[in-house]
Amino acid sequence: MTAKIISGKDISSDIKNEAAAAAAALTAVGRQPTLAVIVVGEDPASRVYVNNKKKACVFCGINSPEYAFPYETTQETLLRCIDELNRAPEVDGILCQLPLPAHIDENAVIDAIDPKKDVDGFSPVNACNLLAGKDCFLPCTPAGIIEMLRRSGIQTAGKHCVILGRSNIVGKPAAVLMLRENATVTVCHSKTKDLKSYTKSADILIAAIGKPNFVTADMVKPGAAVIDVGINRTPDGKLCGDVDFEHVKEVAGAISPVPGGVGPMTIAMLMHNTVKAAQMHINE
Ligand code: NDP
Repeated sequence: MTAKIISGKDISSDIKNEAAAAAAALTAVGRQPTLAVIVVGEDPASRVYVNNKKKACVFCGINSPEYAFPYETTQETLLRCIDELNRAPEVDGILCQLPLPAHIDENAVIDAIDPKKDVDGFSPVNACNLLAGKDCFLPCTPAGIIEMLRRSGIQTAGKHCVILGRSNIVGKPAAVLMLRENATVTVCHSKTKDLKSYTKSADILIAAIGKPNFVTADMVKPGAAVIDVGINRTPDGKLCGDVDFEHVKEVAGAISPVPGGVGPMTIAMLMHNTVKAAQMHINE
């Protein structure tokens, strides 16, 4: 039996429509949500991501002024820009597209963003609040994964969720969120021994390692839900995930594709967070 396809494209479209309705309500009372977008350098992949995010902002009725800096911009200049955006009352969210050039300390930049405007959910304050189970801006990719599971009717309580990858932006926060959803969570990484013994026991398998087609059909428990976070390019330039989709879909119960899976969900959750920030700021 072939797996049910979890369409991030369709689910993200619903979330963007909800964000658009909320943004319209704010605009109607004179408070259009604003997401300030900072880009440093000319990295082509970053440009594609930024353009997709700005396109979603247009769709949702969110204002998205861009602050573009050349590659050689200093950290001091960038921090000054963030300081101004932190103090600008009309700015609800600040997005600094990563990666930054090597001469800039990414952590210093992320730390400088006011947690109330940190709609990416990367700041230490938001990360701590997430761990403590307090209300905060959830990092967009893990939050998108949870929405995909919820809106596809996939049960999480009591299920074994195995996460491949322990990065600060995907693996770790995804583990915390899956715990919050009452799953039993195992986090694997590059030093994990006998990876297959873990993946084979997963009711929900989340792959976020950045290795094309790494998860093969023999690593997946029949009927499992498989969420593919990876964004990779094959040697012939095609986009692919961390999961060997064509073969794994014959074993899994549900699977998200790449493209059209977690990618659009990440952008939709950014829109959700920006509207949430504007709703918070209107009462300040
Ligand atoms: P990182 O490179 O920061 O982390 C990769 C993680 O995978 C690390 O924890 C690493 O382990 C682990 N890993 C690497 N190789 C193996 C292996 N052979 N077996 C088990 N674990 C392994 O990546 P990110 O978390 O930032 O991103 C992961 C993927 O998701 C990338 O393809 C990225 O492009 C994509 N991505 C997609 C997004 C979307 O919107 N769809 C958003 C963000 C990322 P260790 O810690 O030991 O090094």
